[in-house]
Amino acid sequence: MASVTDPSAPLLLTTVAELRGAADRVRAEGLTVGLVPTMGALHEGHLSLMRAAARRSDRVFTTIFVNPTQFGPNEDLEKYPRQLPRDLELCARAGAHAVFAPSRSEMYPEGESTRVTVSGLTDHLCGAGRPGHFQGVATVVTKLFAAAGPCVAVFGKKDYQQLKVIERLARDLLLPVQVIAAPIVRADDGLALSSRNAYLSGAERNQALALSRGLSLAGRRYASGERSVAALRALVLEQLEAASVRVEYATIADPETLEPLNDSELLAGPTLLALAGFVGNTRLIDNLVLGRDPDPLATLPEGAK
Ligand code: AMP
Repeated sequence: MASVTDPSAPLLLTTVAELRGAADRVRAEGLTVGLVPTMGALHEGHLSLMRAAARRSDRVFTTIFVNPTQFGPNEDLEKYPRQLPRDLELCARAGAHAVFAPSRSEMYPEGESTRVTVSGLTDHLCGAGRPGHFQGVATVVTKLFAAAGPCVAVFGKKDYQQLKVIERLARDLLLPVQVIAAPIVRADDGLALSSRNAYLSGAERNQALALSRGLSLAGRRYASGERSVAALRALVLEQLEAASVRVEYATIADPETLEPLNDSELLAGPTLLALAGFVGNTRLIDNLVLGRDPDPLATLPEGAK
């Protein structure tokens, strides 16, 4: 049986048994497994997770699965970009040793009926507008953790609430997984990379820049001493509305519990500023932990922010 040793030609695994066997063999050699779960249509953000996994483990396993249970009935499951051959090449270039790309029935065998629910954390932010979404995420990630076994798993802060949900489920279910958070990777103009950016027209992409611009403005206002939730939210909402982004939420929340702060409150310590909105039909999210994260537009010249 092939072993997981050569990052220039990652091993393609399609069954749970193959994934489990390959990960077991890595550990039997005294090496560690790094896991990077994705839905494919890979971009530099995903590749940065693979590099982070390579720094923290001996063998990187990337998973590519468009998970049906995390999509709502009116969401983009059918049109979500799928490009496995290209993704495999990108995985090879990013140093993944193995790619797990299962079928739907492999992950959800006929007659399955178990779901994983993380309560509390999932009431807020995206959980409010996408009922069932985090249950789908928690279920598939639990399955991936169960199949991969003890590992280091890397997730992006781009999906901040998802990261918190996964940290919580790994802890609550006593899973032998160390969850690592990786920073948001952005395009040169500040837009957070996302597989869904492929849906945007040129004009929509310009509108979408209001998210990172709003976060940057709020971050700089926070750095110069502003602590009012109302004032910081107003700044962001002004940017989003000026660019005709249909706002789902612009919320300032506790970075651990994700409990939203009221407009009448003042920030005390690092606080999450999380945004979700639609540009045309495309739903985009972005976030910044005020008082902790760098300026999302740090690489742009002052006049261009
Ligand atoms: P997805 O394929 O969108 O489900 O994302 C798979 C993983 O990549 C998740 O942990 C995401 O948070 C992470 N990710 C997606 N976009 C970015 C980005 N721009 N920067 C860093 N991580 C990202």
